[in-house]
Amino acid sequence: MQHGHCPLCAVRLAPAFAHVPDYEYGAEGDFGFGHCAECGLLVLTPQPGIEQLKAAYPPHYHGFHTGAKGLVGLLYRLVYGLRVRAYGRLLPRGGRLLDVGCADAAYFDALVKARPDVVPEGVEFIDDIAQRARDRGFRVVTGTLADMKDAEPYDVIIMNNLIEHVTDPVAELEQAVRLLRPGGHIVVETPNTDSWDYAVAGRWWGGLHVPRHTYLFGPVSLDRLAALCGLRLASRSFQPNTDHWALSVQNRLQATPSTRRPLTRGRAWYYKWLLLAFLPLNIVQAWLRKSGSFVSVYRRTS
Ligand SMILES: [Zn+2]
Repeated sequence: MQHGHCPLCAVRLAPAFAHVPDYEYGAEGDFGFGHCAECGLLVLTPQPGIEQLKAAYPPHYHGFHTGAKGLVGLLYRLVYGLRVRAYGRLLPRGGRLLDVGCADAAYFDALVKARPDVVPEGVEFIDDIAQRARDRGFRVVTGTLADMKDAEPYDVIIMNNLIEHVTDPVAELEQAVRLLRPGGHIVVETPNTDSWDYAVAGRWWGGLHVPRHTYLFGPVSLDRLAALCGLRLASRSFQPNTDHWALSVQNRLQATPSTRRPLTRGRAWYYKWLLLAFLPLNIVQAWLRKSGSFVSVYRRTS
């Protein structure tokens, strides 16, 4: 497996993991990861083409089903509440917000309820998912950031669990910065390679999410990417993200025929109980800034 160079540091990537399958949705292909010794970036090898990536998001992909009920639904609503509070602090009165890769924009309802002066917009590349947001009255464009180049500048741009999915993170973030007014903020939430769950789970780590995650960051590599795009870190928080622990355990069990179970939307029956079981550990991790997911707020300086 030939690994290329780190797009942030230009140093040659060292092999990290080889032959990591898609345990959740069974996408085709033989994938591994290269690792940058300078910044810690993990890079999927080979990089999937756009058609291969689209095929890796089946209609039952869990990210398209945010209207979950019960325990998982409750966890989602807690996350939306936290998001709305954090974004509200960054938005001036009547401010403009763009969510990139917004899926069905599930948190927009809570956002406009808390901040009726704000008009949130989104861009989402899967049309019928975007349509669900439009059906609720929100402006969501089907496409990618490249389709938004003529938009008015935004005060806040949200990239939640997006930057780890794109095929060129430098180009993607540069594109976002062009749409941001000077002094505006970009919020980037992404899995954290500088976490206890990655350190323990390694090739089984739920954050790898092969082949949908193309680049995986920690605080050092993400700050390096942001600096290349003219952004300065304003604040950073660490989320008690139980997904990656739960998925790491599931991946390990799915890799062995005797413990393999049928999956619904990529998840085994026991997954939701693992989410709950790992919550106390995740709260400790978040407090020590070593949790599996982190949120960075960057400010456009020029
Ligand atoms: Zn690097």
